Amino acid sequence: MTSCKHSFIGKADGVHCAKCGLKLTAQEYAAMMQPSAAEAKKTARGGKKVTKDE
Ligand SMILES: [Zn+2]
Repeated sequence: MTSCKHSFIGKADGVHCAKCGLKLTAQEYAAMMQPSAAEAKKTARGGKKVTKDE
């Protein structure tokens, strides 16, 4: 695991990080940028209501 914040540069065959050199295919890059739909639903903040009544 790196803590690199990744500065991806697009190439014909995908992207690579200019900082750490990590190479990703276009699909892997898309997956990283957009977490799974299931995860998105889980974190949709539907369970916690925020009220201003305190
Ligand atoms: Zn990186």
